[in-house]
Amino acid sequence: MKAIVLGGGESGYGSAVLAKVKGWEVFLSDNGRIDPRYSSVLDRYGIEYEQGGHTVERLMDADIAVKSPGIPDTAPIVVQLREKGIPVISEIEFAGRYTKGKTICITGSNGKTTTTTIVGEILNAAGYDSAVGGNIGESFAYTVATADKEWYVLELSSFQLDGIVDFRPDIAVITNITPDHLDRYGYDFQNYIDSKFRIIMNQRPEDYFIYSNDNMVMGREIALRLPGMQRLPFSAKTMPGCMTSDVDDVTREGTTNRFRTPETMNEHSVPVIDDVTTHIYPGAFPMTGNRFRATVDDRSVIVDLSRMQIHGLHNVYNAMAAALAALAAGVDADTITSVLYGFRGVEHRMEPAGEVDGVRYINDSKGTNVDSTWYALDSMTRPTVWIAGGTDKGNNYDTLRELASCKVKALVCMGVDNGKLLDSFRDVVPEIYDTHSMEEAMRICRKIAVPGDTVLLSPACASFDLFKNYEDRGRQFKAAVAAMK
Ligand code: ADP
Repeated sequence: MKAIVLGGGESGYGSAVLAKVKGWEVFLSDNGRIDPRYSSVLDRYGIEYEQGGHTVERLMDADIAVKSPGIPDTAPIVVQLREKGIPVISEIEFAGRYTKGKTICITGSNGKTTTTTIVGEILNAAGYDSAVGGNIGESFAYTVATADKEWYVLELSSFQLDGIVDFRPDIAVITNITPDHLDRYGYDFQNYIDSKFRIIMNQRPEDYFIYSNDNMVMGREIALRLPGMQRLPFSAKTMPGCMTSDVDDVTREGTTNRFRTPETMNEHSVPVIDDVTTHIYPGAFPMTGNRFRATVDDRSVIVDLSRMQIHGLHNVYNAMAAALAALAAGVDADTITSVLYGFRGVEHRMEPAGEVDGVRYINDSKGTNVDSTWYALDSMTRPTVWIAGGTDKGNNYDTLRELASCKVKALVCMGVDNGKLLDSFRDVVPEIYDTHSMEEAMRICRKIAVPGDTVLLSPACASFDLFKNYEDRGRQFKAAVAAMK
């Protein structure tokens, strides 16, 4: 039986190794260059590969094709394979067929990496035989091939989900759904939503589905789909038992969340729901005293937000989702709280990058879409110089205008083409600058920021116009801050 693997990156080489150890005849094909880190592993396993183009005839006699998530369904080679009737699946589908390990799968427009990392740390602290994978760390396929685990915590993009057939998470999480990657979904938001919801399509009644009850899209889709597994909603705005679609404050604009996270906390936290009421509902909901309770079956954990190191409403959601997933996996409450209270965040996500002359610098380079940047701006408590821009993915900046007008004293656009950003914010922020490199952007920030300000890099765009990737952008930002010191 012959398996071909399209793409020789993290996901592709993992799939090729798995196919090889499971006895397939394997051929990997990449139309770009394969990183030597990966080709050396292919060599070690005696896996044949090509790079710099696809030899179509050689690919067309495959029994199965495993496609890396970076390759779109519209790529000519994928179209040709499908026309020939060759099943094209994702790495997740392929690896899922070779493990009996349980899976906690996390998708969503934002918060995937943060939530996945927290859940991974909790399972680790609880002594589970577990690994994180998917979009972060080693690929799922490579781990299944080399050191299969009892538990997997997988971060799944919509592209990974597009290629699943029978794959079924024991615990599925959708953190939220807001517009992103519309360029890969025919500029139709519903296509992207449907892709995210594939995460639950094979779930059984005993499986768990964790989702945001504050996300408008989620509320509507769940009401339409009525999924039949064990549902665990989390919410900072609704009472237990209340569907998002039942409340009128479902949009973020003009809503007050029921928490005071440390960024916004004053001396009084808002009394919300008494402990007894909260207890009986599965899911995670606010409690009195700036806490939330997460409940799965008959077990609960109470989390005190003032003891967490990561801030902002978005991180309350991530903590709720992680606590529910960990409870559903059987972890005890003490382990969950000790990891949540010690967790310091993931690099490039609202990462403190230092303070120079009274100006605080925050690296949110992973803020690559409008919604993530909404949360970044929302959590700003000081006058903000905001650096944004990059490759536009079909963005609509309207939802950021109100926040920008309250919080942003200057917008420094940083991209090859800043036209859309300049047009969207010219009338709402007092100062706006058009820059085309990190160096130029940071020079302006240095000039205009005064003690007490925050300089926030949260681009709302992909990075590929000026940088290799968002990590490169974040590192350049941090290096520029370090150089100022
Ligand atoms: P993902 O893996 O889905 O891209 P990350 O955890 O890497 O998510 O965070 C990406 C960006 O989104 C960062 O800018 C982060 O500050 C912001 N973010 C994190 N969690 C959430 C959330 N629950 N809702 C909205 N934005 C979030």
